[in-house]
Amino acid sequence: MKKQANAHLPDRNRTSLVARLVIAVVITIAILLIWISNLYLTDRFTQETRQRAELRAALYAGNLSSELQRTSVVPLLLSRDPVLISALNSGDFAATSQRLISIKDEIGAASLVLLDGDGRTVAATDRREIGTQHRNAAYFVEALRSADTVFTTEKLETGGLQFSYSRKIQSGNQGIGVIVVEVGLARLEQRWAMAAEAIMIADSENQVILSTEPKWKHQTVEQALKVENAPSAIERAFQATGDWIQTPAEAITQGRAIMREEAKIDFQGWRLIYFTTFASVRERVNGVLALEIMGFAILVALVFYIMSRRAVQQSNVFQRESIELRALNERLSKEIEERERAEANLKVAEQSLAQSSKLAALGEMSAAVSHELNQPLAAMKTYLAGARLLLQRHRPDEALSSFQRIDDLIGRMAAITKQLKSYARKGSEDLVPIDMRDALATGLSMMEPQLNHIKVRISQDIPDEPVMVLGDQIRLEQVVVNLLRNALDANKEMAEREIGLRITGGDIAKLSVRDNGTGINDLEQLFEPFYTTKKPGEGVGLGLAISSGIVTELGGRLIARNGSNGGAVFEIQMPIWNQNKQAAE
Ligand code: ADP
Repeated sequence: MKKQANAHLPDRNRTSLVARLVIAVVITIAILLIWISNLYLTDRFTQETRQRAELRAALYAGNLSSELQRTSVVPLLLSRDPVLISALNSGDFAATSQRLISIKDEIGAASLVLLDGDGRTVAATDRREIGTQHRNAAYFVEALRSADTVFTTEKLETGGLQFSYSRKIQSGNQGIGVIVVEVGLARLEQRWAMAAEAIMIADSENQVILSTEPKWKHQTVEQALKVENAPSAIERAFQATGDWIQTPAEAITQGRAIMREEAKIDFQGWRLIYFTTFASVRERVNGVLALEIMGFAILVALVFYIMSRRAVQQSNVFQRESIELRALNERLSKEIEERERAEANLKVAEQSLAQSSKLAALGEMSAAVSHELNQPLAAMKTYLAGARLLLQRHRPDEALSSFQRIDDLIGRMAAITKQLKSYARKGSEDLVPIDMRDALATGLSMMEPQLNHIKVRISQDIPDEPVMVLGDQIRLEQVVVNLLRNALDANKEMAEREIGLRITGGDIAKLSVRDNGTGINDLEQLFEPFYTTKKPGEGVGLGLAISSGIVTELGGRLIARNGSNGGAVFEIQMPIWNQNKQAAE
C-alpha cells in the first residue's frame, strides 16, 4: 500500500509540469496574438479613421460651400426687389425691416442689412443696426464700385470675422443703396466645435479665417499649428490616449500625433483642414485587445480552475485512501492480535490435548491391536476345535492341514503386529512391486473363516493381466481386510447381502469394495481416528484412519462415496507401477 501511495508522486509532478507548460504556451500565444492584433487592428482602424476623416472633411467642405453658394444669390435677387427700390427712392423704410426679416427666415442667412447711398443703415434684420454708419466698410465701398455681387471679409470688433455678400441697388443708372447679406459661417463653426475634432478654414493666402479653435484664427496655418497651447478639443481627445501609437504623425501638436486631412472648398481658393486624433483608433484597438486579454484571462483562470479541481480530487482520493489504509491497518492489527490470542489458546489446548491424547492413544491403540488380532485368534480357535474333532475321529492328515492353517494364522498375527510396528515406524520399509489382484485374494482368504458362516454374495470384476503397484503387500492386505469387514458390518441387516469387488488398471490402479449396506452417514468425519458409529466392543474407529494413512503413505489415496443404488463404495487408488518406465527413469 505504501508503494501505491508513493506511485502518485511522479504523477503529480508530471501533472503540474504539464499544467505549467500549458499556461506558458497560453501566455506566449496570448502575447503574440495581442501584439499581432495590435499591429493589424491599428493599421485597419487607422485606415478606417482616415476614410472617415476624408469623408468628414469633404462633408464639412460641402456644407461650407453650399452655405456660401446659397447665400451668394440672395443679393442679386434683393437688388431687384421693387419694395426695397421704392423704399430707397421714397425714403420710407417703415416696413422694410419687416420685409428683410421675413426674407432672412426664408433663405436662412445670418442677417440682412440695407444701406442707403451714404452707407447708413436704413433697414436691418437686427433693428439695433438701423442708423449705423458703414460708409467705409468694404462691403459698401466695393459693392458701389462693382456691378456684381461682392464677397467681403470684415474683421469685427469682437475679434471674429464677418463674411458677407453685398450688391448695389440701382435706380436708373444710379446706385441708391447697398444690400448686405451676412453668411452664417459662424453657425457652422459652432456646429463643428461640438465634435471632438478640430477644423480650420484657410483662405488663398493661407490665413486661418474660420476655426473651431479660436486661438488659431488670424494667423497662417503654420503659425496656428505652432501655438503653444493645444486646442482644447484635441487636448480632450489626447487625455484618452497614450503616446505609444506607432502610426507616423501627420501633424504634431504639443508633441503629439494627430491625423490631418485637407479638402478644397470651391470658393476663392479656400481649404478646409480637418484634424482628428488617433484616439478613436486607439480606443477601438484597446477595446478589442481588452476583449482578447479578457478571453485569455478566462482561459488561464479555467486552466487554474481545472488544475485546482484535479488537485482537490486527488487529495480527496489520497485522503480516502489513507483513511481506508488506516482502517485496514486497524483491522489487520486486530486480526493479528486475535490470531496471537488464538495461537496462545491453541498452544494451551495442544499441550493439554497432547497430554490426554497420549493417554487416549495408549488405550485406543491397545483396543486396536486386540481388534486386529481378534480375527485370526477366532479363526485359530475354530481350526483348533476342528483339529481336535479330526484327531478324535482318527483323521490325523486332515487335522495336520488344520494345524498348518493355524500356523499360517500365527504367521499372519506376527505379520500384523509387525505391521502395527511398521505403521508406528512410518514406512521405513522398502516398497516392492505387487499385484493388486494378489492383495485382494489374500485379503479375501483372511476373511474366509468369517465368510463361511454368513450368506453373502461376493461378485468380482478382476482383469486377467496383473495390475502392478509399488507397495507393501501385507499393509495393502490390511486395508483390503478392513474394507471387507466394514462392508460386512454395513450390510449386516440386509436380507440379501452383497459385496462387489473390482480392480481396474490404466494410469491409476483402482481397487473398489462396494456393499449394499446403510451407506455412509458422515463423509467428512469418516477418516477421522476413533470416528465410529458402532457399539462399544464392535468398533473403535481406527480402521479407516489407519487404512487411509497406509494408502497415503504408499503414494495413493483412499476415497469413499455413497453408491448410486445405496450402500457405500470405498476405492483404493494407487499409481500404476510400470517396469519399463521405472527402468527408463
Ligand atoms: P470401526 O469399523 O471400528 O467403526 P472404521 O474406521 O473402520 O472403524 O470405520 C469408521 C466408521 O465408518 C464406521 O463406524 C462406520 O460408521 C463408517 N463405515 C465404514 N465403512 C462403512 C461402510 N462400508 N458402509 C457404511 N459406513 C461405513
